[in-house]
Amino acid sequence: MQKFTTVAKNNEKSKNLEAKIYTALIQDGWEANDQHPDIVIFIGGDGTLLYAVQKYLDLLDDVNFVGIHTGTLGFFTDYTEEEYPVFLKDMKERAPKIFCSKLLQIKTNKEEYYALNEMRIENVKRTQVIDVYVDNELFETCWGSGVCLSTQAGSTAYNRSLGGAVIDSGISLMQMAEITAIQHSKHRSLGNPYILKPDRIVEFKSDDFSDALLCFDHRNVSLEGVDKVTCTTSNHSVRFARYREYSYLKRLKNLY
Ligand code: NAP
Repeated sequence: MQKFTTVAKNNEKSKNLEAKIYTALIQDGWEANDQHPDIVIFIGGDGTLLYAVQKYLDLLDDVNFVGIHTGTLGFFTDYTEEEYPVFLKDMKERAPKIFCSKLLQIKTNKEEYYALNEMRIENVKRTQVIDVYVDNELFETCWGSGVCLSTQAGSTAYNRSLGGAVIDSGISLMQMAEITAIQHSKHRSLGNPYILKPDRIVEFKSDDFSDALLCFDHRNVSLEGVDKVTCTTSNHSVRFARYREYSYLKRLKNLY
């Protein structure tokens, strides 16, 4: 018997739909299991998936995700709320294809974090100086509000607002973009987004990260007492259960 759980955005629309799906799946013989689900059904939007991924981080290698959007169709969701009867039918009758999306691994001297979209070091209080090392080699020193390192999946999120490239589905890489970098005769850095091989090791170092935040997807932690943040592509992925084709181009066209 397949075990499922649901994660819904905290609004009435999503909670109502969650209740309908829950009831229908139980009637169809599925077992509700929050602790060890085979599949996590997220209802809300792309942001809801990010929350669900952090919630089930320890089970990622064994659990699949499928999502219903209660707004405009996003990148991680495959059904709109009007299509929920189709979703239930597909769950009942079809075998899903599994599509994996790699996470970023982010390490400090204190802890290890994971992100599906991106990690950012951000300082809105003062100019943040960051030395960026790639595979142990100093690449640049960046003066500004911070840096963003995104995955392919995150290329359409914060990275896109920074002028980073949207990356086609299925390509594994990391993309670094500076956040409002100062460019003048004294301080100069690349300025353009930089696309890196997935196995590069990117280190962000600073003598003073006080006031800076380490943001990863929807979460953030203080960088007080940290002098180095090390990132690379993780071995862990988010496994999406695709019960039907929904082209990446269609998802992309919904963006603008
Ligand atoms: P959130 O409200 O959960 O998300 C902010 C917006 O980003 C929502 O519209 C969300 O879509 C969308 N989004 C999330 N992942 C996306 C992806 N991979 N591609 C395209 N759009 C995506 O906000 P949050 O909790 O602060 O942060 C979660 C994520 O939002 C972050 O990882 C960051 O990338 C993104 N964000 C972007 C900006 C920006 O572009 N300036 C600012 C803040 C945060 P749904 O409506 O479908 O949930």
